[in-house]
Amino acid sequence: MVCGAGIAGISTVYQLTRLRVGKVVLVDPESPMTVTSDKSSESYRNWWPSRPMVSLVNRSIDLLETYERDFGIGLGRRGYLFATAEDPSETIANAESISSLGAGPLRIDDAYRGGDLHWSEVPPGADILTDPDVITAWFPYLAQGVGAVLHVRRAGWFDSKRYGGALLDAATGVGAEVVHDRVVGVDVDGDGVRVIALGEGGRIATEVFVNAAGPGAAAVGNLVGDQLPLFTELHTKVMFRDHLGLVPRDAPMLLWADRQTLDWDAEEREALADDPDLAYLLGELPAMCHFHPEGGTESPWVVGQWSVATPRTAPVFPIPVDPMYAEVVLRGLATMIPRLAPYTEWLPSTTVDGGYYTRTESNHPLIGAGTHPGVFHVVGLGGFGLMASAAAGELAAQWITGGDLPDHADTFRPGRDEKPLVATSGRGQL
Ligand SMILES: Cc1cc2nc3c(=O)[nH]c(=O)nc-3n(C[C@H](O)[C@H](O)[C@H](O)COP(=O)(O)OP(=O)(O)OC[C@H]3O[C@@H](n4cnc5c(N)ncnc54)[C@H](O)[C@@H]3O)c2cc1C
Repeated sequence: MVCGAGIAGISTVYQLTRLRVGKVVLVDPESPMTVTSDKSSESYRNWWPSRPMVSLVNRSIDLLETYERDFGIGLGRRGYLFATAEDPSETIANAESISSLGAGPLRIDDAYRGGDLHWSEVPPGADILTDPDVITAWFPYLAQGVGAVLHVRRAGWFDSKRYGGALLDAATGVGAEVVHDRVVGVDVDGDGVRVIALGEGGRIATEVFVNAAGPGAAAVGNLVGDQLPLFTELHTKVMFRDHLGLVPRDAPMLLWADRQTLDWDAEEREALADDPDLAYLLGELPAMCHFHPEGGTESPWVVGQWSVATPRTAPVFPIPVDPMYAEVVLRGLATMIPRLAPYTEWLPSTTVDGGYYTRTESNHPLIGAGTHPGVFHVVGLGGFGLMASAAAGELAAQWITGGDLPDHADTFRPGRDEKPLVATSGRGQL
C-alpha cells in the first residue's frame, strides 16, 4: 500500500507493478499529481554538489529517457545555462568539482556545440565559455558584462503531467488500484504492518506500507513510529505571457548565477522600507533567478522562479501567495536579459502558484526502510522530486522487494545520521 499519489508514490507503484509483486494500492484523498507534483517548473539536471545525488539523478534521467521512448514525456535537453558577471574562477572551480562527482566531462572554451539539439545528440557534462564574443554570438540576449557561462548539458525540462499520467496509466493497466481516501492510522509494531485505517472508515490489510506523502510525510511518519528529519519550505513560481515576444523561444533554462540588488525608484524604495514584510527586497537578494520558455515555438508562455523568500513553515493550503512575487522575478530576470525591461514597467499577464519543498538538512531525500518491518519511506524530495522521481521510485521498489541496492542507497537511508551538507556552491538552491 502506497500512501500519496504524487510523483514519488506513482513512480514507486509503477516500479512495483513492473516487478509483479502482487496487488498494489495507491491511497490519496486528492487527485493524483495535484498537491506538489503539478506545481514544479518541470526542469531536470544531473548537476549536483554530492556524488550520491549525481548518481541518483543520472539514473533517473536514464529512466526518463526510456519513458520518453516508451510514452513520450516531452523530454527536451537544452540544458541549464548559468551566467555570471563576476570573476569566473568560482564558477570554474565549482564546475570542476561537480564534474569530478560523475556529472560528466567539463570543457572550457573547447569545441562548444550549442543550438537546440535532440536530447540524444547533446554532449555529456558541461561547457564553460569565457570569451565575451563567443558568449554574445551564441546568447545575444544576455546582459553586457557577462564574463562566463556554464552550460550544463544533461539537463532541460519535460512534461511532468504527461510523465506522471503515463506511469499511473501503465500501473493501473496491469492491476494497480487507486483509492481516494486519507491514511489516518497504521497498525504496526516490531512484528510488521497489519492494517491501514482510512479516513472514511475503511481498512486495508497489508504487510507493506510506503510513505510517499510529500509535505504530509512527517505526519505519516509519525503514524508508523518514525520521526523523520523533514521540514517544509514554501516555494513559488510564476508563469508569464510574453506578449511582446521578448523571450528567445529556443533558449535553454537561463539562470543568473550572481546575487543582485534590484533597482527601485525613490517612491518604491520608500514604500518597501515602510513595510517590514517587504523591506528585504531593498537588500541583496539571492542568486539563481531563472526561467525557461514553456511550450513550443508558438507558445507565449514562460516559467520563472527565484527563491527570494522561502519560509520554513508547516504546509498550509491554499498556499499564501506574495503579491510582489511576479514583479520581483521579472525585475530579477531583466538583470540577466535586459530586453525584458518593459515588463518591469508594465507587468505582463502572470499566474503565480507553488507548494512546499519537503526537505532534509542535507537536501538528500529519505528513501528506504523505516524502523518497523514492512514500512518504507520515499520522501524529502525537496526541489528535485520530479527529476529524481524515476530513480527514487525504483530505489524504493528495490528496498521493498529486497533487490540489489545501488551504491547511493546508503546515503539516502531514512535512519542515517542527518547532517547539513556543506555545498560546494554558496549560490543558493533551485
Ligand atoms: C514551485 C516549485 C517548483 C519546483 N520545480 C521543480 C523542478 O523544476 N524539478 C523538479 O524535479 N522538482 C521541482 N519541484 C519539486 C517537486 O515538485 C517535488 O519534489 C515533488 O512534486 C514531490 O513529490 P511527492 O510525490 O513527494 O509529493 P506530492 O506531489 O505533494 O504528493 C504527496 C501526496 O501525498 C498525499 N498525502 C499526504 N498525506 C496523506 C495521507 N495521510 N493519506 C493519503 N495521502 C496523503 C497528498 O495528498 C499528495 O497528493 C518544485 C516544487 C515547487 C513547489
